[in-house]
Amino acid sequence: MPKSKKLKWVAISCFVLGVGVGLYLATAGLPTANAQQSSPVKALTSQDVYYPGTEDLAPDEMRVTACGTGMPNARPKQAAACWLVELGNGDKFIFDIGTGSAERLSALKIPYDYLDKVFLGHLHSDHFGDMDALWVGGVIGNRVNPMKVWGPAGHEPEYGTKYAIEHMEKMLTWDKGSRFGNIDIRGLELEVHEFDYKAINEVIYQENGVTIRTIPAIHALDGPVSFLLEWNGLKFAYSSDTFPNKWWMEYAKNSDIAIHECFASPEILIQKQKFLPQVALNVGTQVHTSPAQFGKVMALIQPRMAVGYHFFNDFDTEPIVLSDIRKTYDGPLALAVDYMVFNVTKEDVTVRMAAVDQDIWPQPPTQPKLRPDLSKRIGFSDFIISGRENFNEIVQSIYDDINTRYGTDVKLPQ
Ligand SMILES: [Zn+2]
Ligand SMILES: [Zn+2]
Repeated sequence: MPKSKKLKWVAISCFVLGVGVGLYLATAGLPTANAQQSSPVKALTSQDVYYPGTEDLAPDEMRVTACGTGMPNARPKQAAACWLVELGNGDKFIFDIGTGSAERLSALKIPYDYLDKVFLGHLHSDHFGDMDALWVGGVIGNRVNPMKVWGPAGHEPEYGTKYAIEHMEKMLTWDKGSRFGNIDIRGLELEVHEFDYKAINEVIYQENGVTIRTIPAIHALDGPVSFLLEWNGLKFAYSSDTFPNKWWMEYAKNSDIAIHECFASPEILIQKQKFLPQVALNVGTQVHTSPAQFGKVMALIQPRMAVGYHFFNDFDTEPIVLSDIRKTYDGPLALAVDYMVFNVTKEDVTVRMAAVDQDIWPQPPTQPKLRPDLSKRIGFSDFIISGRENFNEIVQSIYDDINTRYGTDVKLPQ
């Protein structure tokens, strides 16, 4: 299905996208009303909504999808931090995998084999709380590639990404053990690439024309980082969480798309979240970046598209956040909600919302799956086996039916 005619985004103060606002200004490329041929029987030739799985990605195009834009506390409307970057060369990268975001990723109808690279900005649960869901759920969803994770080392080993992922794996010892001998478990392999959080603009990934660099972030404790991805002359900058800092100002400058946290303002934290004023001020302006600080950051780095996330974006919070940002920044801006989609090329940055199905099933694997190795099965104790009611006649008929339909000869275990 063809993409909608792209709109040229311009730096006008009224130009913002947010829930229920959708106010934008197009200066070029917008078809006039009578230029489109209407037909009672033909499909529309343009679409203003992104339907996952229905659009090719052009060789020079970057597509960025918001898979989590909320806050540390879970809510149905917004998962916690997660951004998917898809490139025209076929590569896909996940930046943060906060609580609830694996569900958003599943809605994009992408084979899990392509969702095997995760970059963690820091180890707050709202930035990696769905790592287990993507890891194990991805295996059940036909991923046979190992899961690869990049993340910062801590100021001490137990504050680092390696420690966190190793302990996630330990936490899921029973889960992992239960899969042995029952499914293809190659996807349960975890590869962790840890790097120095103090590294400045250092390359942590370079393959297939894609370079990803890390810069330090300032947030809560030593350890957090921000990321810069460059490919095909396009630059994607992602803050994860950070207080405004000099490294972001220097290295995120002139990004094509700059995604920076824009936390709920202290007033919102007091009114909506019932924070004490001193806590709201500390969390809202010292641990995080408030909307007014976010505006200043974007005014200084001048991206082609500034994206604010990390607040509950509602009809009554969005105007407060927007007016705070507009005190300091009048450039192109999108206030993200989940399923906002950005198509970035050298010519245009298009912003749309995705329309997703609820009835999602996994896509097939990208390579043949292996039969489970029965010798790896841990199995049951005699005590538990003694409790089975086998109903052999019933189950045998299920085996017979499947063997007939699929030309197999799977024997009923005795
Ligand atoms: Zn955080
Ligand atoms: Zn956060």
